[in-house]
Amino acid sequence: MKSLQEYKIPFKGLKTGKHDFKFEIAQPFFNEFEYSLVKSAELTVDLELEKQETLLILLFTIKGNIHLNCDVCLSNFPSPVQIEERQIVKFTGDENLEDNTDEIMMLSRSDFEIDVSGLIYEYINLSVPYISRCGDEGNTQWCDKEMIKKLNELSAENNEKTTNADPRWEALKNIKPQ
Ligand SMILES: [Zn+2]
Repeated sequence: MKSLQEYKIPFKGLKTGKHDFKFEIAQPFFNEFEYSLVKSAELTVDLELEKQETLLILLFTIKGNIHLNCDVCLSNFPSPVQIEERQIVKFTGDENLEDNTDEIMMLSRSDFEIDVSGLIYEYINLSVPYISRCGDEGNTQWCDKEMIKKLNELSAENNEKTTNADPRWEALKNIKPQ
């Protein structure tokens, strides 16, 4: 977890008010999260941390490209993202530390630093689209053209096979609409 060290912000020593932090996110970051959907990226995280007496307000702006695998041709392609998220962090007694919600994260009053790597990881992975496609299939510079060719050949072959193998299909084709 050494490479995540830089994401720990020692807020205790900060004055109240706003402070800016910047992080560059690339492959080593994702190596720390075994189940990450995103395996590599080039992202810049701008974090504005506002320190108040009893809480922190974190504003994240994450911009750049995440690398996805196309669901069709399997090639790796860059997908642009722009993420803006806000997280409120409250300081509390140890007895209330379990009261975390999506909106409010609890930290102990005795904590002196906050690790923002988990939040950044979550925001990036939530931005992954349900279906990834490299775009204009077969025509982008990232497309695996060989793979697309093979897939097309395979699906043509399959069509032929199912048509030939199933006489019911032939019979259906001969039914004329009334
Ligand atoms: Zn593709």
